[in-house]
Amino acid sequence: MGLDTKIGEFDRFIDHLPEEIAESLWFIPVREDKAPDIPEEESLRDEEFRLGLEEARERLEDGKNIGIILRDHFSVLDVIDPEEAEEYLKDLPSTLEVSTRSGKVHRYYLPGDEIEGKDIPNIAELRTGWRCVVAPGSHACDEGGNGWGTYSIESSQDVAELSPNDLPPELTVVEEGGKEEDRIVNERGWRIEKIMEDDEKLDSLLTRNVPPGKGYVDIEEARKDTIRKLLYWEFGPKMVQEAMESYRKYEDFDFDSLFINVLQDFQSNGEDTISDHLDDPDAYRPGSGVGKKVKRKTRRELEEWVSNQNRRVREDGAVPATFASEIALPSGESIEEGSTLFLPPDLVAELQEKEKAGRYIFKCPRCHELHFQEKPYKPSVCQNPNCESNGERTDGKFLKPVHPSDHEERAEALMDNYHFKTVAASLSGTSAAGLTHLYEKGVYDEEEAMGFIRGKVQNMNSKLKLSDQNDVINYISVATQVSEEKFGVSEGKVVLEDRTLDLENDELRPHKPSDLATSKIPIEYDPDAWCPEFLDYLERMVPSEKDRERLQELLGTALVGEKLHKKGAMVVGPTDAGKSTLIKIIRGVFGGRDNVSTQAPSTLADTRWGKAKLRNKLLNSTDEVSAGRLEELATLKRVMDGDPVEAEEKREKTFEFSPTCEHLYAANQTPSASRKDDAFWNRWIVIETPNPVP
Ligand SMILES: [Zn+2]
Repeated sequence: MGLDTKIGEFDRFIDHLPEEIAESLWFIPVREDKAPDIPEEESLRDEEFRLGLEEARERLEDGKNIGIILRDHFSVLDVIDPEEAEEYLKDLPSTLEVSTRSGKVHRYYLPGDEIEGKDIPNIAELRTGWRCVVAPGSHACDEGGNGWGTYSIESSQDVAELSPNDLPPELTVVEEGGKEEDRIVNERGWRIEKIMEDDEKLDSLLTRNVPPGKGYVDIEEARKDTIRKLLYWEFGPKMVQEAMESYRKYEDFDFDSLFINVLQDFQSNGEDTISDHLDDPDAYRPGSGVGKKVKRKTRRELEEWVSNQNRRVREDGAVPATFASEIALPSGESIEEGSTLFLPPDLVAELQEKEKAGRYIFKCPRCHELHFQEKPYKPSVCQNPNCESNGERTDGKFLKPVHPSDHEERAEALMDNYHFKTVAASLSGTSAAGLTHLYEKGVYDEEEAMGFIRGKVQNMNSKLKLSDQNDVINYISVATQVSEEKFGVSEGKVVLEDRTLDLENDELRPHKPSDLATSKIPIEYDPDAWCPEFLDYLERMVPSEKDRERLQELLGTALVGEKLHKKGAMVVGPTDAGKSTLIKIIRGVFGGRDNVSTQAPSTLADTRWGKAKLRNKLLNSTDEVSAGRLEELATLKRVMDGDPVEAEEKREKTFEFSPTCEHLYAANQTPSASRKDDAFWNRWIVIETPNPVP
């Protein structure tokens, strides 16, 4: 599938460079048609897309192309018409040459002094700075998919230095079709490219498809704003015009009259310029990040929240933010306008400051202007003076909320951010909410789901009443119902603290909400772990190797959270044999009360709420079984078989479920002879602890 790239050509090229240059080159991924292989709207200047020397080699070896950003490492003379160019270039120092896919020539130079990019139209072009060339070894075609060829070394010699004096006078800047953005500088000499790194709004106005929409009624408004922005950054009229014509096709408009118009407004309103905002304009360096809108770092942070499957953990203090416009994420995904995400307050504050997101946002249906409000009340009129509504409140539909504004939207927003599941059988026909579980760090937990939802709804809008919260709870309950038997991780998997262990292939993988796990063992898996002290202790307590194996098997089946057999384990021995200690250790290993219930057999037999305690548990284990009352264990048959039983959460309605936990009890010794004839004991794996522990 890969392209016919030639790593050898690349290596020869690198061999001809001074080592420190080779190590510090800035490579980028390039597609087969020579276009940069990065998401649209992204900038090549972003370090994110930069490849180092080794990464670039690897990419070429994989049959993919790379490019080199020239920066101050290289000047490359692109000889478009070798015959015509001959007379201009004959005095230039000879240097390493690369033939391009179409058989033309790239001459590589190390710029001695600062050299500007210049060209002789259709004959030769000198590229520098942020310009880019396809690297030797790449195999590319033209935009139409034709004209395939490999970039290979034509003249194998070291890269020479080039000084501005070497250049022929003809290799100068041309006015026509000049796209040399590096030439566009403001009155302080700051390059527009650098300024755009700091001012995302300007960047977006010049490089993206803004109007109409995105806050602009029409292209005229966008043009005016672009001019205002450039005046703010202290560009002179000629440079304003160049910037607008080079970066965007603001076609067919009368620049002069619009410019004068905006300039007059700008001056009569006494609008600020960048100098007004800098203590010391001379100390400021464009590109340093000052004033940049929604930074890449922020978008990357956002991406973590959006793409990470386990982002839906309870994040204390996370606050809702509704997005006022689409935000493109580094991965190429985007957050849609109107999405509500629960995010860390710092992140929300930053988005709010840039008016990218907020808690209460209303949109004018006429001019689409967004109104960010502090409180959940909608403004009575559109505040855009140019809106055709003319500031009049005309009908009830005016200004629509972008943020979630009814229980359905609030519930949907919560379900977009968090995972919920509700036991279908726990929902009654009418209003009541069911047993709703909240997914957190690998497992669904029922205890805090309700309070969690209430808290989040309150957080969205503190004016809401209890009944509004209930509406959201009910909506989520109904929307997330799943039958009881679907709960629990599927066969052969054990959920651990931060990974899930697949017993079939002994592999660890991240937690998945779709596993519907309800319990996990709070340990990190170490297949090489060994515990000599415990094994030693166990050997003394349970001398029979067979008994120890059976105990291990029972506990092993308990781990996987499904019902694999119908026997319970009974540890029997004299009172001082350390049975309670053994049970305590095992409970601890299983993660304590989250995974182990401690229901006495009599409670299980006699009460519905006792049975309810077995839900989502791996093990039920207690030493509170008196020898005299062993017969009560017989009533546990259904529970131990994993058959459906009726249960009841205290003060809630009853429901049916099938317990999957294993049972481990301790009882004082009964003579093994009498056990032999007793059918009752067939249900039990008997673990003998015959010796008193000193
Ligand atoms: Zn409006």
